[in-house]
Amino acid sequence: MLSLSHGLTGAFIAAQLPSPILYGPLALASHYLEDWIPHWDVGTGLSTGKRTRLAAIFMGIIDLGIAFLAIKFFWGSPALANFHIWLGAFVGLLPDFLEAPKNFLHWEPKVLNPTNKFHEKFHHSIPSFIGIVPQLILWTVIFFLK
Ligand SMILES: [Zn+2]
Repeated sequence: MLSLSHGLTGAFIAAQLPSPILYGPLALASHYLEDWIPHWDVGTGLSTGKRTRLAAIFMGIIDLGIAFLAIKFFWGSPALANFHIWLGAFVGLLPDFLEAPKNFLHWEPKVLNPTNKFHEKFHHSIPSFIGIVPQLILWTVIFFLK
């Protein structure tokens, strides 16, 4: 899914639980669960050559920027000082951060290979903007439950 979806989910989970010991594993698990849902994201089309790496990097940076602004918007300005909100968002995004060198630079440190292979098993992307719909539902639910 988009960084916006993973970041908001990780932040939301962290906002509900008192300790990184509780929200860390759940935020990480949420990433794999969300990627399992057929979706569209900035990496869709990279493996088939329908999207260039440069376009994906550009869109990925914009996606991360929107995620940052959305977290700030959802949890207010004091969230900038809330370490746990941002840590939850980071953990929610971690599998994509670890896979980024492989996807965008075609470079994968060997130590990351098992993690990335595990991540790929869950990933179901669809080459259509219909894949935004489950994420739109997710953003709405988080907005009203936060
Ligand atoms: Zn992912």
